[in-house]
Amino acid sequence: MESMFCYQCEQTAKGTGCTISGVCGKKPEIAHLQDLLTCEMINLAKAMQIKGVECAPAVDLLVEGLFTTITNVSFDKNRITILTDEIKNKRTKLGGTECITTDLLFHGDEDIISLKSTLLFGLRGMAAYAHHAHVLGQRDDVVDSWFIKGMASLTEEHTIDEWLALLMEFGSINLKCMALLENANITSYGNPTPVQITMKIEKGPFIVITGHDLNDLKMLLEQTVDRGVNIYTHSEMLPAHGYPELKKYPHLKGNFGTAWYLQQKDFNNLPAPILYTTNCLMPPMNSYIDKVYTTSAVAFPGTMHIDADENGYKDFSTLINHAIELKGYTEDMQLEGINGGTSVTTGFAKQTILDNASTIVDAVKAGAIKHFFLVGGCDGMKNERSYYTEFVKQTPKDTVILTLACGKYRFNDLDIGTIGPFPRILDMGQCNDAYGAIQVAIALAEVFECGVNDLPLTLVLSWYEQKAVCILLTLLSLGIKNIYIGPTVPAFFSNNVVNTIVDNFNLHPITTPEQDLATILDA
Ligand code: SF4
Repeated sequence: MESMFCYQCEQTAKGTGCTISGVCGKKPEIAHLQDLLTCEMINLAKAMQIKGVECAPAVDLLVEGLFTTITNVSFDKNRITILTDEIKNKRTKLGGTECITTDLLFHGDEDIISLKSTLLFGLRGMAAYAHHAHVLGQRDDVVDSWFIKGMASLTEEHTIDEWLALLMEFGSINLKCMALLENANITSYGNPTPVQITMKIEKGPFIVITGHDLNDLKMLLEQTVDRGVNIYTHSEMLPAHGYPELKKYPHLKGNFGTAWYLQQKDFNNLPAPILYTTNCLMPPMNSYIDKVYTTSAVAFPGTMHIDADENGYKDFSTLINHAIELKGYTEDMQLEGINGGTSVTTGFAKQTILDNASTIVDAVKAGAIKHFFLVGGCDGMKNERSYYTEFVKQTPKDTVILTLACGKYRFNDLDIGTIGPFPRILDMGQCNDAYGAIQVAIALAEVFECGVNDLPLTLVLSWYEQKAVCILLTLLSLGIKNIYIGPTVPAFFSNNVVNTIVDNFNLHPITTPEQDLATILDA
């Protein structure tokens, strides 16, 4: 008998669903509470739809709840219960009724549940992006409305074709949400520019900050000015180094460690505290749980949680004092990437690429650049993900690798040479910077007077959690075809859904680097 059911991420048990306990560390009690939270969000969205209420505070509750249920975000039953109660109270005040129960969330007709799950998981991913934009003071009414529409739709009966149309509509809304976040980041911190980042950790007190929230990093940098505490990014925080308004702080020193899934090894006995701003939080080991600080939707029992005050300000003084007490390393420590590299680059975001568009176009026309690969997405612990390292290593020297999100830690410390003024690996940023990559592709297609699908560009994606779901739906909604995806097909895609996507979009599950490269370059 199942004690829980969750199949929202790539590492789900047996490739079908976690039913005893989560591979991510999520226990049945938390899984059940997250299902309850999800049902209460659906109930609230339906009540808002019926009453015609679209107020920002209620949308914020949906955004927070969806963000909370992303893989590796919240393991804290008290915080989940408090949020669920708040959402339920809001629905009750609106006169809304209970229109879905947890047993109906993931059970029913296989194809319909698959399509509904895809929408729900996509909404969870988009919520994280909306949350980051909201804390920077930017919101979009169309995106806000769609949280209500999308969640309310999960109570509705639709045909398969109608669900597919809804998924494509959602993909276009997520594009708006990623554009909103890009604009929020650039308005707040400037346009990223290329930078080389060391993986050397200087002796003395330091703090590691992980996740995606640049606003948290900015506040931490401000509060550590002249405190003798250095700041190191980890995982998806790496692209922060490219933003002028963040890299201007001299104590933003470098990048710590490698991919998120290695955190239990990388943080073992760390002489410094770690601030988690978003996913991916793995259950902390005893050797460092007392140094774990969480904020925003991230939470784990036994760790210190730092909430924002009514003005959005977070007081990091306890964390900073903890770093001073711990004193950091006594000698400089040279860390390495998974391939032995000691530095990485980032900051090749949309504007940098567009500013160099004429150089790139000339290089393509002259035959110096034969093909672009966007090798991006999430990282994860499965050995099959070495595909992405090998793929990049085997790409011909006259090709360029664009990358984004944390999957790049499989290869971003490799030195695979340069093309003209650029390294062959160009890190465009975090997962949400897929928006910038899409804009670059559209701009190049205009220059070459062709469609995006006709460009010498192939997307080779790795997925793990729900932000990858919303990005995939955005790419499909734009009609982008021939995407390679791995390491496995999502468990929540039924066979019919997979076949439909493969038929309509020529989606390719990855095979081997040799075979896929040959297929792509021979096309
Ligand atoms: Fe399993 Fe992933 Fe769900 Fe965790 S989030 S319980 S690993 S499917």
